[in-house]
Amino acid sequence: MNAARNGPLIDATCPRCGGGFACGAEAGHCDCFDIRLSEALRADLAARYPDRCLCLRCLREVMAADAGAAPPATAPARG
Ligand SMILES: [Zn+2]
Repeated sequence: MNAARNGPLIDATCPRCGGGFACGAEAGHCDCFDIRLSEALRADLAARYPDRCLCLRCLREVMAADAGAAPPATAPARG
C-alpha cells in the first residue's frame, strides 16, 4: 500500500525462496518477461503464489523443473 512509487523497480520479496528482488513489471520491463512459462506452469504459480512475483532465479528453477519432469508417463510416482 505504498502511495508513492517513484522508483523504477518495485522491491519485492520472493514467496518461494524468501529472497528480496526487484520486479520491474510495473516499470514496463522485468527480467521475468524473458522467461517463458508454459500455461500450466503459469497457472500453477498463480495458484500457489497469487498476485506475487517470483525472483528470476526461482522462475528459472521452476521452469527447469517443469521441463525436466515433462511426461509423467512411465516414471513411477512416489511420495
Ligand atoms: Zn526466489
